[in-house]
Amino acid sequence: MSRQAIVSQPTNALEERLLQALREAGLRLTPQRRAICRYLAGTKEHPTAQQIFAAVKPDFPSLSLATVYNTLDALVRLGAVHALGGAGDGAIHYDADTNPHVNLACLQCHRVVDLPCETVAELDRRVARESGYRILGARLVYYGLCPDCQRAEQRAAA
Ligand SMILES: [Zn+2]
Repeated sequence: MSRQAIVSQPTNALEERLLQALREAGLRLTPQRRAICRYLAGTKEHPTAQQIFAAVKPDFPSLSLATVYNTLDALVRLGAVHALGGAGDGAIHYDADTNPHVNLACLQCHRVVDLPCETVAELDRRVARESGYRILGARLVYYGLCPDCQRAEQRAAA
């Protein structure tokens, strides 16, 4: 996405929720932090901090990796973003979609995808009810080989 696109696109509800979380955390809404929120709100890719940095850096050359990390930390602490852990690549993947769902991580290509799941919403309610916790997030990550990587493996074996 070009800088022009970043500047001219209207703010969506998810992005606004992330910005609001940063305000609550007392962080200044710098253009860099806004761009991080916009990127998180606009991607289904479950990016790592490095991937967010690489995506936003071209339009904001002054962006530092430390800013990406402290922005993500604040969002995770407030439950606005979920930290999913690794996908076989040793890096934490982040998910701005906090609606209850299952994540699937491929250990081969390190992609993480969503699977909507009614049962997770019920599980969330039950965990909150029975633990007394105020739940800020959940990591429900299944891992394995995605269909694409399975096909590639079959082709390689043939
Ligand atoms: Zn894969």
